[in-house]
Amino acid sequence: EFKKNTVFVLFGASGDLAKKETFPALFGLFSEGVMDPSTKIFCYARSNLTVQQLRDNCAQYCRPSTTGNDKAKMDQFFKMVTYVQGNYDTDVGFIKLRGEIEAFEKERGVTEPHRIFYLAIPPPIFLTVASHLKNNVYAENGITRLIVEKPFGDDLETSRELQRGFKPLFKEEEIFKIDHFLGKDDLKRLLAVRFANPFLGATWNKEYIEQIEVWFKEPFGAEGRGGYFDPVGIIRDVMQNHLLQILTIATMEEPVAYEAEAIRDAKVQLLKCMETLGPKNVVATGQYTNSLDGKLPSYLDDDTVLDKNSKCLTFTEITMDIKNERWAGVPIVMRAGKSLDEDRVEIRMKYKKNAYGMFPGVTPNMFVIQFHPERKIYMNFNTTAPGFVDNLHQVPLDMTYSKKYANDWVPEAYERLIRDCFLGNRANYVRDDELDVSWAIFTPLLQYLEGPNAPAPEIYPYGSTGPKGILE
Ligand code: NAP
Repeated sequence: EFKKNTVFVLFGASGDLAKKETFPALFGLFSEGVMDPSTKIFCYARSNLTVQQLRDNCAQYCRPSTTGNDKAKMDQFFKMVTYVQGNYDTDVGFIKLRGEIEAFEKERGVTEPHRIFYLAIPPPIFLTVASHLKNNVYAENGITRLIVEKPFGDDLETSRELQRGFKPLFKEEEIFKIDHFLGKDDLKRLLAVRFANPFLGATWNKEYIEQIEVWFKEPFGAEGRGGYFDPVGIIRDVMQNHLLQILTIATMEEPVAYEAEAIRDAKVQLLKCMETLGPKNVVATGQYTNSLDGKLPSYLDDDTVLDKNSKCLTFTEITMDIKNERWAGVPIVMRAGKSLDEDRVEIRMKYKKNAYGMFPGVTPNMFVIQFHPERKIYMNFNTTAPGFVDNLHQVPLDMTYSKKYANDWVPEAYERLIRDCFLGNRANYVRDDELDVSWAIFTPLLQYLEGPNAPAPEIYPYGSTGPKGILE
């Protein structure tokens, strides 16, 4: 249940994430009647802004609500918003913010404050803001929750350093670390698909599964975001976090209960069975160049990529192993790339071939959960074609969200995550030990690929399938 008179503070309210994700999510929750209208939203940043400007900035990113009347809802929503201008590295602005928060809580007669702070700011200032807000606006006799955006560190060492920095300020249960893929409806559904359908659960193991593939293919490049992407690269951008989350939920053992800590325990146990990655896991690495027709630019042509000799990987394919009874020996292929031939984010469970009986060698089943371009779950299923033919062919058993749930409101990732934080549900947020083990798996790979013995990235054309060495 939503606590009345919750205070939500958005730091970095002038930024890109705030306008594209945080505001639209808050508005979505409000316009769908999920957020309690007694909630108060404070926006904080250094820029000189008005609430009207914040509204103008985010308007194009807000989804129309299912019940219409959006202009009136927007008017009402932005009445809940107050902008506070202030710096991140001195107390002055935070003291002003405290004055505003306390005035609001006093007016509403709040005795047990509930305050949520959302850090939509660059990682180098996470700790500065966290310490000023602990000193000035922490809810001493109430509940404080802090939402922290990714990236949480660049490798095992820096992630631990950040954890050590937060430790004296906030308890682990007060920190909500975002991996927005965990907010996706499709990923939540994967839990139900696996564990509420015994026929599927029974075949979800090395006896039946030939190979697991996790793909992230984007049809566009770094365009204009090179400043962010160049020091990060494709592995940190999507593999160590989003794709690993998908894989973990698809392969973990059944949690003992449908409950946050049980789910997070099961994920950590699975991650601990995953092999640390190194040179032997690399299938291909690459960086895109111009498209074959010369129309689409190379990575290095991007004005926002400052290092014109950058070796930044825009494509990586690796194989992975899970050393446990369920999965030992099943190859896992993780592929992620920019400027490829298609838009596709999905996990594919490829089943083994039928060797004997009436239909030996028939095309094997494949179970797919697709996140992009469509949200759908489907399975390639063998049957005969209609009429006088006995030939087997495959048809998809297809649950495409836009068909099956055409009239339903499907929450966006940030809507789900922010709602979860309001409710204190941590299931879809990343726990410290989970973060630690995921960085432990990927850090040796990053060290190798960014070190002196790294293979030169293969140059692949914009719009192609990627480097030549990729697996079929
Ligand atoms: P951003 O636009 O670069 O920064 C957000 C705000 O922080 C800016 O509007 C600016 O506000 C302030 N700021 C920027 N650079 C600063 C600096 N060097 N020192 C002090 N303040 C600074 O960042 P963003 O893209 O919104 O991302 C915010 C967080 O979300 C980051 O941790 C990022 O990694 C994460 N994230 C972003 C996206 C995305 O799509 N944008 C996706 C996933 C995660 P004022 O100058 O007005 O104070």
